[in-house]
Amino acid sequence: MSKIDEYFKFKKQVKLIKASIDSLQEEIKEIMGEKVDVRCKCCKHKPDEIDEYIWAAEEENMTPEEYVKKEEGTYNSRTGQFYCTECYIKAGSPLGTA
Ligand SMILES: [Zn+2]
Repeated sequence: MSKIDEYFKFKKQVKLIKASIDSLQEEIKEIMGEKVDVRCKCCKHKPDEIDEYIWAAEEENMTPEEYVKKEEGTYNSRTGQFYCTECYIKAGSPLGTA
């Protein structure tokens, strides 16, 4: 094998490795995206620390976090932030998601 062939073979291998790193990074992003930290934007409390969601979730047979993701109108799935009712009123009932 000539030096040139070896060089191209090496380059091809680097390209393959880079492609698999890229797809792995995409996979990691996806996994991380699902593990978004769900918290109230203002008081920074998690759903399972806020009574209204604990009670509501219990009635719906869900976890407080599941309840916020599914039912809370201010929940922002990109950031994981929402307004609990108390903060929502304090913030002046803003439109849209947190
Ligand atoms: Zn709050």
